Amino acid sequence: MPRGLQDRGMTSDPFLIIGGGPAGLMAAETLLDAGRPVHLYERMPSLGRKFLMAGRGGLNLTHAEDLSRFLTRYGEASPLLLEAIRAFPPDAIRQWCEDLGQPTFVGSSGRIFPEAMKASPLLRAWLRRLEAKGLVVHLRHRWLGWTEAGALRFETPEGEITVAAAPTLLALGGASWPRLGADGSWTGPLGALGHAITPLEPSNAGIRIAWSPFMAKVAGQPLKRITVRIGWFEASGEAMITRQGLEGGVIYAASAALRRALARNGTASLDLDLRPDFRPEWIAHRLREGRSKDSWTSRLRKAAGLQPAAMAVLNECGRRLGLAPGDHEAWANLVRAAPIPVEGFCGLDRAISTAGGAAFDGLDANWMVTQRPGLFLAGEMLDWDAPTGGYLLQACFASGRAAALGMLRQTAG
Ligand SMILES: Cc1cc2nc3c(=O)[nH]c(=O)nc-3n(C[C@H](O)[C@H](O)[C@H](O)COP(=O)(O)OP(=O)(O)OC[C@H]3O[C@@H](n4cnc5c(N)ncnc54)[C@H](O)[C@@H]3O)c2cc1C
Repeated sequence: MPRGLQDRGMTSDPFLIIGGGPAGLMAAETLLDAGRPVHLYERMPSLGRKFLMAGRGGLNLTHAEDLSRFLTRYGEASPLLLEAIRAFPPDAIRQWCEDLGQPTFVGSSGRIFPEAMKASPLLRAWLRRLEAKGLVVHLRHRWLGWTEAGALRFETPEGEITVAAAPTLLALGGASWPRLGADGSWTGPLGALGHAITPLEPSNAGIRIAWSPFMAKVAGQPLKRITVRIGWFEASGEAMITRQGLEGGVIYAASAALRRALARNGTASLDLDLRPDFRPEWIAHRLREGRSKDSWTSRLRKAAGLQPAAMAVLNECGRRLGLAPGDHEAWANLVRAAPIPVEGFCGLDRAISTAGGAAFDGLDANWMVTQRPGLFLAGEMLDWDAPTGGYLLQACFASGRAAALGMLRQTAG
């Protein structure tokens, strides 16, 4: 037993956490607050790398909307996850930040951010507090699975070591941005136990579109105030044109609808509404009234008031559909619903999150894997999905806390 733990009167055997992201750290804090010693193992040279990356976009921690609406963002998520969020809702996260000296604010979209708009001060304060509470951290320890006798196997810079079996939480993340640590390699040992795992797929990710070479000149430009429709799904916001296709908030919001369409048909198509505030009749009228000596492109741009990026998309779709210049109605309708064939998602490498993961079905009410008593799961490695907007971190914090409480209940007797 490390001396630091004995000094704090923590004499029982340590709980083990593998994975030092938001879910693992929140679980560690919950166990330490209950007076239990915790050893945390992390494969990278430092903790919370993806959390720091999330901070580059302002660190959207959670969302201020009504909790019943909030919970709908997780689709058909397990009741276990929804219960965890009810027990540790957005207000609790705000209070937790405040206690770490990092007050939060609600942005105009309802998203909640730390006032510092980045993760580093929050993570620093959190790690200091965890250390003061007695957390023992083992960096550069990559979990490999179990020995036949049930000990945990780790690859370390000094070679492979084993750690005696103890109540263990895996909080290993999904597989997006693998260079930040979470690479999904846990699917091997966990799958070998017989625990069901839905294949890991990119979510909140860019999409691939077979743009013509004309689109290269607008790569990197935004499409502002657009609406995306896929069947019954509709979302408004911004997107960014990339060489591969499209990315950005409104595209990420469409992840689940696109994934369903791709799974059903192998291909998918989305309609881009480039001018949601203009009726097609109005655009057609303005096209008819436009100066006839202007080029058709110039008349289109003026009639629909489109930026260069939106014009490029419109021309791209018009060319593909073979629309003739001068067909006012057809072009006006195209402004409101430009059909874009989607080839698929860009890879996990740059996806914000991972869909799929370890099934909730194989967990009991204490978040314990029924196939392996003493093993618990939390965070993004579990099979849930949500859009951006703070819902990802919210679920990671809440599930880390809930799984730690489950570990305490399970080992209480
Ligand atoms: C660019 C970007 C921006 C984002 N912005 C936001 C945002 O603003 N709001 C939001 O809610 N969410 C955001 N997210 C998502 C959010 O960061 C993740 O959902 C969250 O970090 C997942 O937490 P986790 O603890 O489950 O996993 P992770 O944070 O991935 O942590 C898992 C940890 O386990 C470690 N690990 C993995 N395998 C092993 C192994 N075999 N042995 C030992 N250790 C291992 C990893 O190194 C890692 O440290 C963003 C993500 C990205 C990539």
